[in-house]
Amino acid sequence: MKFSTKLVRIDQCPEDPFRPVATPIYQTATFEQESALEFGRYDYSRSGNPTRSVLETQLADIEGATRAFAFASGLAALTALTRLLKVGDEIIACDDLYGGTYRLFSRILPRSGVTVKYVDLTDPANLERAIGPRTRLVHVETPTNPLLRVCDLRRLARAAHEGGAWLSVDSTAMSPYLQRPLELGADLVIHSATKALCGHSDVTAGVVAVRDKALADELYFIQNGEGAGLAPLDSFLLLRGIKTLSLRLDRQQATAKKIAEFLSRQPGVGRVHFPGLASHPGAELHASQASGPGSVLSFETGDLETSRRLVESLKLFSITVSFGGVGSSASLPCRMSHASIPAEVREARRLPEDLVRLSVGIEDADDLIEDLARALNGAAGESAPGTASAAARNLAEVAS
Ligand SMILES: *Cc1c(COP(=O)(O)O)cnc(C)c1O
Repeated sequence: MKFSTKLVRIDQCPEDPFRPVATPIYQTATFEQESALEFGRYDYSRSGNPTRSVLETQLADIEGATRAFAFASGLAALTALTRLLKVGDEIIACDDLYGGTYRLFSRILPRSGVTVKYVDLTDPANLERAIGPRTRLVHVETPTNPLLRVCDLRRLARAAHEGGAWLSVDSTAMSPYLQRPLELGADLVIHSATKALCGHSDVTAGVVAVRDKALADELYFIQNGEGAGLAPLDSFLLLRGIKTLSLRLDRQQATAKKIAEFLSRQPGVGRVHFPGLASHPGAELHASQASGPGSVLSFETGDLETSRRLVESLKLFSITVSFGGVGSSASLPCRMSHASIPAEVREARRLPEDLVRLSVGIEDADDLIEDLARALNGAAGESAPGTASAAARNLAEVAS
């Protein structure tokens, strides 16, 4: 079956005598046993729940994994990943990480004696130099958030394996529709399913998907032992969101490309970061390991105050930290999702303070571009009254 078919044609409810076409929400904590000495298929929802099982089976199927595990959030999934390590082990992580992951790695993980080294993994040679005998895990995001930098997954997998480490990929920005890291050599894939997988901004959820059977058994042990598995209602909502994953992303990334091209032509806009632009330094590499650019882009205006005014005057983009949903959103990453990264670290990583991140939803593309054009005019007009002619050009372009 092709990917889009797999999203819909799954066994929604194995073993149910009534054959429902949508997976029921098994909102129960425990399951009655066959007898005092015999367990049935399920006994307690922390250990296993039928709604979550259907979800996990489908996630494994679309990710090309041996098994997948659903957690209460992306960070709970990442926490489970870190539980594969022990005192004295080291993680090498890419230096352009999601803010919450950075906080987990830099402020919580050291308490269990695991150290993290941050390396620019857009150049795989940096990994070859940094990897050492204590390195157990290499963790990377690609494209990174919010700068959309691209890392070479095939080469990183080879280098990690030669150094005796696993490669885990946080593939949230792509979802399994656009990128399947296990097929490129990665050992583990992480998702914040809160984003594109769910797509409707109504669930927080996370996923760990694995190829190796022994790792899968260990992750099940961790999921059950720590109790952060996804609840039945949230599993149901995620199952529902996943059905339209390819439809949503086809529309969202086509519009994102139009918006990126529009922004690239605006005089008041500096660099536009989007792997679907031919000018993006990672465009070719990205196309070799993913089937589309995704729905997130970011750009610079040259000035934090201009960016703030711009974001605040948008009408069709809500100001939210998340991305990947059907509704478009705008954010200032350095003030919002990445504020948990200290300012000096952000600066060292060349994360511009004025960066605006857009997550493109399924609204009409022309409406979104018109909204952006008006907001750009307003933001530029206020900071420099002389730029009225640029403003007029923006609007003329939208009208044409
Ligand atoms: C949002 C996000 C996370 C964290 O996921 P939650 O569901 O918010 O816990 C991790 N990685 C990336 C890339 C994210 O965007």
